[in-house]
Amino acid sequence: MANLPLGEWHQTSSPLFMRNRILFPSVAVSLFSCLVALFLVGDFNVIAQERARLAGPSVKQTASVVKVESKGNSSAFNKAALENTKYRNSMSWTFGGKAQTGWTIYVPLIAETVGTDAGPDTAEFALALSKWQSKAGLPETGILDEATLETFTKYWQSRRLGRFGLSVNDNLLSAPINEFFDPTRSPDLLQLERDTYSAYRKMIEAAAKDLRHELKLTKYGELAPEEKFLRIVSAYRSPAYQDALRKREPNAGRVALAKNSPHSTGHALDIYVGGEPVKTLDSNRLIQVQTPVYKWLVKNAHRFGFYPYFYEPWHWEYVGK
Ligand SMILES: [Zn+2]
Repeated sequence: MANLPLGEWHQTSSPLFMRNRILFPSVAVSLFSCLVALFLVGDFNVIAQERARLAGPSVKQTASVVKVESKGNSSAFNKAALENTKYRNSMSWTFGGKAQTGWTIYVPLIAETVGTDAGPDTAEFALALSKWQSKAGLPETGILDEATLETFTKYWQSRRLGRFGLSVNDNLLSAPINEFFDPTRSPDLLQLERDTYSAYRKMIEAAAKDLRHELKLTKYGELAPEEKFLRIVSAYRSPAYQDALRKREPNAGRVALAKNSPHSTGHALDIYVGGEPVKTLDSNRLIQVQTPVYKWLVKNAHRFGFYPYFYEPWHWEYVGK
């Protein structure tokens, strides 16, 4: 195999070379040689570029692209942005045994994680993503492909509580019914862990201040009684209650109703962020992730010790600071 191209080169080039020597004067031969040399150099450049492309961008290249990008005309990140526009609506992946399409639902979380306010279809977003990819040990393409999304989900999952059941330090209390989304909720479903409740109170106080133009507030700046946003949909669920829920909705799937629910810790809260409170349909989650309340939680909940379950925009776990 290795000798074949060389053999072909000799066969085709030698007679041509001989004819050149015989038919053309020496000036013409020199010109022809120059043309061949130019052609070869050009060709090698193409090969070198192609090799670099296949090998992925090096640190040096990224640095120069960053400089160009700041002027807003990086073709590399513009191309990545086009790929992201396509991927975010159509990329096939699986989670919890269910086929998933695209990653538009996770854009607020992704943007927060990579530290950008730029939209997912922009070169600026691709640039921020490429920097995160570099830190995560991924090829820094700026394209949010399946491997990158998997790395995001692993990272988000790693920040969660990661345990089930009550621990010895967990003290449950009953929150007032007016903190809940459903004013007719059963009195035995109002419990949550003490520190989680106090962190939740501080969090919604801060949210009410920041979102005063978006939420209905009392004259004291607290959530008005009729305001549904940020209210608790579900808090502590005992293993027995979780079991009953699963039996009532046997087709809810693994993702919707896990056997070991983090709600059994008293640290997990389902918070009303819009749409249908706890429906995993893509169309519903797309509505939820665009509300000011969800966007605020994504940016601020960690300051109060709360971390999200990425798949359910309403589900937040008190991990502590
Ligand atoms: Zn939940």
